[in-house]
Amino acid sequence: MTYDIQVKGLSFRYHEQAPYVLKDISLEVKRGEWLAVLGHNGSGKSTLAKFFNALHVPEEGEVMACGHLTNDPSQHPFIRRQVGMVFQNPDNQLVAPTVEDDVAFGLENAGVPYDEMQKRVYESISRLGLSGLEKQEPHRLSGGQKQRVALAGALALRPRVIVLDEATSMLDPMGRQEVIATVQKLREEENLTIVTITHDVREAVSADRIIVLKEGRIEQDGTPQDILTNESALHQAQLKTPFAVQVAQELRKYHVRLPDNVLTEEELV
Ligand code: ADP
Repeated sequence: MTYDIQVKGLSFRYHEQAPYVLKDISLEVKRGEWLAVLGHNGSGKSTLAKFFNALHVPEEGEVMACGHLTNDPSQHPFIRRQVGMVFQNPDNQLVAPTVEDDVAFGLENAGVPYDEMQKRVYESISRLGLSGLEKQEPHRLSGGQKQRVALAGALALRPRVIVLDEATSMLDPMGRQEVIATVQKLREEENLTIVTITHDVREAVSADRIIVLKEGRIEQDGTPQDILTNESALHQAQLKTPFAVQVAQELRKYHVRLPDNVLTEEELV
């Protein structure tokens, strides 16, 4: 079994006097797995995600990303090439005057030769359904399109892992759906390892596995079916039970028989 992320006994605080934000986290993410990290605001999700591409470095515990130890600064360039990140605010991530320049930005920084760069930019743009927008100014795009450009830039570097840190939380419902559908498509077509960070239970539905963070600890670890139908666990983590689950539970109170497979992915959303 190959693991792209391995976390062992990770504890972290921002300053010596500050409280611990992560408390003894141990976690493994398999190659090709889609892990959703779910938790209330302030539970430590973003802090944890930053360890995956060495934006934070452990002082207590160990984090390995794609076989490289993040504790060792000489490994950081390899890690950053293999673990791509997409963040919450698309406007902070798009820096170039056109979509194609933006997608090329990381490749230029990595010193990829011009011909190879062109090839990868167009490949990435077409994979993310952005063909025709190459010459557009990024700030003219919709929120969903902007996040797809950010994702295209990350994918052009051919990473093994993509981490989306609340990448949909500033988008309208359509933009959100657009980005989630893109992640689902990538999941099906490539052997990418995907980590999505979210406080919205609906976004965790399609993942292979969910961990729930609460006050810096992993409270739950299981399949979407296990986690999203466990009302008391969600409540404890200050998360809302998905609407479809609430309806199903109400109906059961009135002895309405539901087929066993009623809580399919579609119904949970
Ligand atoms: P989440 O992503 O689940 O909302 P965060 O990882 O952003 O949680 O934050 C966890 C805790 O760490 C919060 O209490 C937050 O205030 C604190 N925190 C986050 N970033 C910093 C920082 N740069 N300096 C000090 N404290 C921080």
